Amino acid sequence: MAVQTIAENTTSSVDLGPAAALSCRECGERFELGPLFACASCFGPLEVAYDLPAGSPEELKKRIEAGPNNIWRYAPLLPVPADVAEKPNINPGFTKLVKADNLARELGVTGGLYVKDDSGNPTHSFKDRVVAIAVEAARAFGFTTLSCSSTGNLAGAVGAAAARAGLRSCVFIPHDLEQGKVVMAAVYGGELVGIEGNYDDVNRFCSELIGDPLGEGWGFVNVNLRPYYGEGSKTLAYEICEQLGWKLPDQIVIPIASGSQLTKIDKGFQELIKLGLVEDRPYKIFGAQAEGCSPVSAAFKAGHDVVRPQKPNTIAKSLAIGNPADGPYVLDIARRTGGAVDDVNDEQIVDAIKLLARTEGIFGETAGGVTLGVTKKLIEAGVIDPTLTTVVLNTGDGLKTLDAVSATSQATATIKPSLDAFRAAGLASA
Ligand SMILES: *Cc1c(COP(=O)(O)O)cnc(C)c1O
Repeated sequence: MAVQTIAENTTSSVDLGPAAALSCRECGERFELGPLFACASCFGPLEVAYDLPAGSPEELKKRIEAGPNNIWRYAPLLPVPADVAEKPNINPGFTKLVKADNLARELGVTGGLYVKDDSGNPTHSFKDRVVAIAVEAARAFGFTTLSCSSTGNLAGAVGAAAARAGLRSCVFIPHDLEQGKVVMAAVYGGELVGIEGNYDDVNRFCSELIGDPLGEGWGFVNVNLRPYYGEGSKTLAYEICEQLGWKLPDQIVIPIASGSQLTKIDKGFQELIKLGLVEDRPYKIFGAQAEGCSPVSAAFKAGHDVVRPQKPNTIAKSLAIGNPADGPYVLDIARRTGGAVDDVNDEQIVDAIKLLARTEGIFGETAGGVTLGVTKKLIEAGVIDPTLTTVVLNTGDGLKTLDAVSATSQATATIKPSLDAFRAAGLASA
């Protein structure tokens, strides 16, 4: 991976609020804020380090609760300028935390089961959270084109956010994605490029483009802006705790593509503990993958620290990353918290999509099916404790992956418009 250097006159004036520096996750070396993603000394991934707000937890809670009903209520904990809410952005977040009592009954959960439904974001997936933060970083570093390698949802989120922010966008996807994802990525008017290959090929191509004059002035939200992008996922942790009455859940189940979302939700929980906004109690983090792309799950089950890349083959295309960048960190977190990583096959994914829809009226995409499918599997295996508070993420909207369920979700009957015909169909109440 090419290491980028920071142009000298771009860093001193950067205002990203409480973000103080970038620090290496591996060796701890610190760097000035800039479009960097790998440590110059050890090539470890960089993450944002903060001057976290002073004052009492009660004051900070009040300040947050008085903020807007989107992720900007947490601006004091994010790498964004203080006036972020006034800038043109897509303002995602503060999505519903649904108390899923019907689903809980069906699964035998007695400790409280919640679905955090991120299909309610502006482009109908959790990706709006990460992109909204990356847009502010792109602005701060003077990028004029926003780009990404995407498994589908990210491309749509980047297209929409760039349109709103007045930036050009050019995004890259595997050529064979679901129609709903392709249209959602193209409709916002930016450039959309299909690459003949899988996501890992797209990602490799983008890394090359960043090091080439062809990609100059481009902010790749999940490559050279990745440290900022990742911070957007912390807002899921903040919202869940605030919505539970400033409490950590006992257990949370999170889908894994690159693993960024899972690692940053853990970071968000840790920050809330450090700030005294929640009581310091143990929580368990569970990761969910599709069997057809389960490199992290395979490593977890084998007791390995290294994640061996796979060639994806699953209907859960939004999670189809065969070589996940944050895989080793996901393993650390699952093991440290006493959680687990597991996977389900395509049939179980479809069943779980339909289970969520029929019990709670929430139509999730295939990634949601993966997460609920793994939840169900781990409850049945006695790994997830049904007597504890459990949060399951639904990270995307089923309308984008209609093909997964269209064969088995059709009209019950097609009849002539007459009462006789309706009676004959056997659907009448009497
Ligand atoms: C991208 C994505 C994820 C997970 O992303 P990470 O790369 O692990 O952060 C989960 N669900 C959906 C719907 C996604 O699009």
